[in-house]
Amino acid sequence: MSEPIPLAGPVVGAREEELVLETLRSGRWSLGPRLREFEERFARRIGVEHATAVSSGTAGLHLSLRACGVEAGDEVITSPFSFVASANAVLYEGARPVFCDIDRRTFNLDPEATAAAVGPRTTGVLPVHIFGYPADMPAFERTAAASGLFIVEDACEALGAEHADGSLVGARGNLATFGFYANKQLATGEGGMVVAPDAAVRARLDSERNQGRAPDMGWLDHDRLGFNYRLSDIACALGVAQLERLDDMLAARARIAGLYSGALSVVEGLELPCADADGDRRSWFVYVVLVPPGVDRDAAIEGLRARGVDSKPYLPAIHLLSFYRERFGHRPGELPECEEVSARALALPFFPALSDGQVERVVTALAEVLEELRRRPDAARPSAAGASPASGAVPPQP
Ligand SMILES: *Cc1c(COP(=O)(O)O)cnc(C)c1O
Repeated sequence: MSEPIPLAGPVVGAREEELVLETLRSGRWSLGPRLREFEERFARRIGVEHATAVSSGTAGLHLSLRACGVEAGDEVITSPFSFVASANAVLYEGARPVFCDIDRRTFNLDPEATAAAVGPRTTGVLPVHIFGYPADMPAFERTAAASGLFIVEDACEALGAEHADGSLVGARGNLATFGFYANKQLATGEGGMVVAPDAAVRARLDSERNQGRAPDMGWLDHDRLGFNYRLSDIACALGVAQLERLDDMLAARARIAGLYSGALSVVEGLELPCADADGDRRSWFVYVVLVPPGVDRDAAIEGLRARGVDSKPYLPAIHLLSFYRERFGHRPGELPECEEVSARALALPFFPALSDGQVERVVTALAEVLEELRRRPDAARPSAAGASPASGAVPPQP
């Protein structure tokens, strides 16, 4: 059998090597010229004035929540269908993530459920643009305005996504965080960027990422509690090179998604990622399908692996992760839409360098595996996919 097809892989070329090597040789490895350059170019690309580079998307979410004044005992409404970092960041400040169910089409936090869940301790909303599909920000902004709540956007999966009004995700005047882990649309290995609404918030972010130092760095005064959430100039050099090719990388992702959707549309019972609607435009981050109801998703992963294709359950429901269950007493059945999607979700190999031939291999393998699993005698049992809230099935962690 030929090489297994991996889930993800960054794009790296001569330009990345050139800029990284130049920065290495310059000796300016931190707080140097590449940091400012990366921030400025990123801000311009998004269409905002203020951006602060940080060591990870998680660090960016943490600083964003602090900048909004989150305190112990506060409640922040957020999505249970996300990477765990968006909920963890709320816990870092002693606040509590309150999960509402998701919109069944987009898999994003449901704005109506969110509005209904606002209570006396609610201080903010943290929507996630999951899988690069824009969250319904106008609706969240109405709820926030009506109840005096802050908004922090988790845009870690959505660089390049576009709202119906033509603004890019992150450019609506809210604090928004992007992530540059190696599988993201733009990668610096580890890293993130926070877009801030004004100079004062940006100054606070700049300071808190750098041990609470005064922003001009002119004197060694640390006038507030800070962290080491800096992004090195070596990573920023990578970021500058990646920004130059961002449009090409996004186009390559969109093209591959189109290939998958075309080929997989004939597979019975398979649910494909939602198409763009109402003027919103997805930036393709992952290609996640829902296996047909009643099909054992984890058996599908095994079947794909046996055929040389990597895949992953993506994403597990956060409220059913062991830590969240134990700490908050969450139980299956609380958030049925999220749980159903989580139990069926399967991420396929997806990255700009994936070849047409590899896409074809993945499609063929998946069609075979699903056909085989459908013929299993127990395939019709409704609990087989954990779809029934009473089944007690817990989606496996990644
Ligand atoms: C990648 C990601 C993050 C941040 O991850 P880091 O590894 O800390 O950069 C946060 N939220 C979501 C939804 C993500 O996909």
